[in-house]
Amino acid sequence: MTDARPAPMPLLENADPEIHALLGQEAQRQQDKIRLIASENYAWPAVLETAGSVLNNKYSEGYAGKRYYEGQQQVDQVERLAMERLKSLFGVEHANVQPYSGSPANLAVYFAFCKPGDTVMGLGLPAGGHLTHGWKVSITGAYFNAVQYGVRKDDHRIDMDEVATLAREHKPKLLWCGTTAYSRVIDYDRFAEIANEVSAVLVADISHISGLVAGGAHPSPAGKAPVITSTTHKTFRGPRGGMILCDAVHAKAIDRAVFPGLQGGPHNATTAGIAVAAKLAGTPDFRAYAAQVVDNARAMAEQLMARGIGVVTGGTDTHLVLCDLTPKGVPGKVAAQALDRAGIVSNYNSVPFDTRKPFDPSGLRLGSPAITSRGMGVDEAKQVANWIADVIESVDDDGVVERVRNEVLALCNQFPAPGR
Ligand SMILES: *Cc1c(COP(=O)(O)O)cnc(C)c1O
Repeated sequence: MTDARPAPMPLLENADPEIHALLGQEAQRQQDKIRLIASENYAWPAVLETAGSVLNNKYSEGYAGKRYYEGQQQVDQVERLAMERLKSLFGVEHANVQPYSGSPANLAVYFAFCKPGDTVMGLGLPAGGHLTHGWKVSITGAYFNAVQYGVRKDDHRIDMDEVATLAREHKPKLLWCGTTAYSRVIDYDRFAEIANEVSAVLVADISHISGLVAGGAHPSPAGKAPVITSTTHKTFRGPRGGMILCDAVHAKAIDRAVFPGLQGGPHNATTAGIAVAAKLAGTPDFRAYAAQVVDNARAMAEQLMARGIGVVTGGTDTHLVLCDLTPKGVPGKVAAQALDRAGIVSNYNSVPFDTRKPFDPSGLRLGSPAITSRGMGVDEAKQVANWIADVIESVDDDGVVERVRNEVLALCNQFPAPGR
């Protein structure tokens, strides 16, 4: 074990030793384990500082220059900086940085363009889509008439012909593209063509890949999708939050939908963190980071396949690798739990056309953003893939799990978690 994180929060330690101890243990876990959950990352340490700042003390309902409370001398500047940086980073006309997270950002888009019962279209959850794109248990599936498209049976890629057919048939108000468990480039040109043909508003939800888009490692939907939503805490490395980027014609509707439509006061400390992350995402270093994230995911996918583990679509263009463990005869949950014991943290996940149940599926979802933030490269990514294969081939062998655990710890010690 490395040394425990030196207590960085003496005031918390004094006020609440119990929570202080848990935060220390969590910091240690984030140092000692290889974190492969595709939606997670290490936020920039400077972002963590803003998240705990005095901006938490301020209420700012409204938008810069049009607030309902006085005392916005600094907050207005913070919010304008965040907006301006995002606009130039992503090449868009308007940015709203107030959504509390990705799901509220998406809900605001529904509120801006739809009435309850209107038809919307998105990628189904079992095919790699997000709950908020119209899945039945979500408010977006309950309050709207959600039509779901899927992936092709043969190659598991998004079926653009099906998208076109369903769009012509159902004429959705919103056409969502964006994924949480899909590893291939999204064809924004084709989506835009289909949306234009049926007069739908194309919404690109780039929550998982916004860091890759900002860093030039995935095509940008800017100029193709008039509305773009994202979380700010995944590949983007910002604070937990959300954003909506859009064409100027939609700015008013989006702003009204976020506030006063859906939310009250914005989380100003988060806004500041988004501004910081947007600044850092505009650097040459971040471009190199985004490219390395993809290289590392590719290296992992190739090595996993070489070891006989199925990879959905046969590889990846992004940060994400969706494994199909069927060839190994090991359920995803069993694998994820054994891997966690070995110090490798991932999540079990359905694969397209999964024959197993969602709570006990065939797949395992992996991602490279967090290991890349620690400075790991292709060699380490391959090593990690080999450990994953070792554990999956011996889920019940405590000796193998223990050996991998020790080797993982040694590697983690060479690559300190950001912020330590
Ligand atoms: C993560 C994610 C969201 C939701 O973000 P939360 O911050 O968890 O609400 C929405 N859409 C996609 C595609 C995502 O990956």
